[in-house]
Amino acid sequence: MDFQCPLCNALINVDENCPRCGSKMDDYGPVEDYFAPYNPYLDRDLVSMGKPDHQCIHLFACPDCGYDSRMVINQIPV
Ligand SMILES: [Zn+2]
Ligand SMILES: [Zn+2]
Repeated sequence: MDFQCPLCNALINVDENCPRCGSKMDDYGPVEDYFAPYNPYLDRDLVSMGKPDHQCIHLFACPDCGYDSRMVINQIPV
């Protein structure tokens, strides 16, 4: 069974508003940097286990103020 990220494949839309200024954040695509020190969506246990299976980490950034964050997207079986 194959797993694919629904966001990479445009199956879903994620509406994420910037916590700083409230603008709609843009999806900048998947990132491989799972060990960034400021990831609010991964707890320490998960990070210490290494790269999670069947998950895709997307970078979202605010076009207005430059705020960015990473979001874990659970991949779905196809
Ligand atoms: Zn993805
Ligand atoms: Zn912003």
